[in-house]
Amino acid sequence: MTTTGLVQGASVVAAVLFILSLAGLSRQETARRGVNLGMAGMVLALGATIALALVRSERPVGVTAALILLVLVVGATVGTWRARSVEMTQMPELIALLHSFVGLAAVLVGYGSFLTAFLGGTAASGANADHGGDTVHAVEIYLGVLIGAVTFTGSLVAFGKLSGRLKSAPVTLPGRNWLNLAVVAACAALLAWYLTAAGPDGGGTAVLPLLLMTVLALALGWHLVAAIGGGDMPVVVSMLNSYSGWAAAAAGFMLGNDLLIITGALVGSSGAILSYIMCRAMNRSFVSVILGGFGTGPGAAAADGPVGTHRETTPDAVASQLVGARSVIIAPGYGMAVAKAQYPVADLAAKLAERGVRVRFAIHPVAGRLPGHMNVLLAEAKVPYDIVEGMDEINGDFDGTDVVLVIGANDTVNPAAQEDPGSPIAGMPVLEVWHARDVVVFKRSMATGYAGVQNPLFFKDNTGMLFGDAKDRVEDIIKAL
Ligand code: NDP
Repeated sequence: MTTTGLVQGASVVAAVLFILSLAGLSRQETARRGVNLGMAGMVLALGATIALALVRSERPVGVTAALILLVLVVGATVGTWRARSVEMTQMPELIALLHSFVGLAAVLVGYGSFLTAFLGGTAASGANADHGGDTVHAVEIYLGVLIGAVTFTGSLVAFGKLSGRLKSAPVTLPGRNWLNLAVVAACAALLAWYLTAAGPDGGGTAVLPLLLMTVLALALGWHLVAAIGGGDMPVVVSMLNSYSGWAAAAAGFMLGNDLLIITGALVGSSGAILSYIMCRAMNRSFVSVILGGFGTGPGAAAADGPVGTHRETTPDAVASQLVGARSVIIAPGYGMAVAKAQYPVADLAAKLAERGVRVRFAIHPVAGRLPGHMNVLLAEAKVPYDIVEGMDEINGDFDGTDVVLVIGANDTVNPAAQEDPGSPIAGMPVLEVWHARDVVVFKRSMATGYAGVQNPLFFKDNTGMLFGDAKDRVEDIIKAL
């Protein structure tokens, strides 16, 4: 069998492994197997891509191999360092930053392909030599650069918002929907100019519409994500995940790499499906989120001042409440991740269960800063899967529950989402913890959550505020039990 045949065979196996990996990741019990299959697929894919580059190499094979080794060593070193040093709470912003790299790569591949195909340069991999300067290839390059540029700046804004470097509140420019529409129309008009200029006799002048479109697409990516904020950010992050997949698929078309097309399409479509599921869980319109908040109002100013008086409680008092309880629900949020409180929380749940208390965890779909954030932390702390329930399963049960422990959650347990139509989180389904007999909220201060809205839960008669770092307070309660 020829090397190309072997590479094609390896690509098919890698694609199947990626599909099996996605299937595995759909359930907690099989997620670890899913990750292993994905890693095996990626090793095979890298091997196949390197083999293909060596076979197609126009330079001496040794030089190409040395160049590939160099970038592999640099990439693997940076990747290993970041993976080891990143805090769990920084994961979402790191993912957003990685999406921006995929977008930037698609833009660079696009320009490289353009130089090779239309200006006779040698900047690209040389893989498209057989494409020539035909219209289909010209369109591939244009779309690849467009999607890549939107993904690049959109992901950078998401990175800024998630890391707190940019304000999370939506930027609402006047006539923003018309602005987006005008940019899309201008990109379509520039495509017509670009295709005419990139005709069979050369194409040097096509670089001008390509450059203009790139600037517009960069601005569009920035504006689409800047216009979305607060509680809608999770959907944007998963949408950008999807865009990065389409950008990778576009790069695959430009490089003539089938595996990159398949992998990109898998990421693109699974990201889109996840965004759709999250929109439904959040009671948000999918189309409106894709179009940068199209159809949503400017939103009320977020209130961060107190809206009543709160009652403070102590670890000893909470321990007595728990000892006398028959049923307890724990609602974790971003603060549990910040405090790394999952281990003492799991310990507390186990100790209560030993005493015959029915303990369950209530997980809101966007609790934390990335989809599944709480599930990952609880799995890490070995909390049994069967006591971890989703919002829809558990929301009706708060009524008959004795004590709810809200550990570092805020927006996801905020009754204003139901009671205040002017709130920026209005309409978002929340965990209705206030129906329980007693609620204890663990946090450090009266500060607002991610969406910047004050929480009326803190001022209800049946709520006690337990201030301090969540990990320390949970450990205090365990001691007091
Ligand atoms: P929130 O961000 O609403 O609130 C977290 C709370 O934790 C804060 O009010 C903070 O209060 C408290 N906290 C922080 N550190 C500690 C600590 N060490 N000990 C105790 N408490 C602490 O969290 P939720 O999980 O309820 O909501 C998630 C929010 O993030 C939603 O608005 C969601 O839309 C958004 N989001 C979610 C994403 C996802 O994919 N899941 C992605 C992007 C955004 P204090 O400072 O007083 O301690």
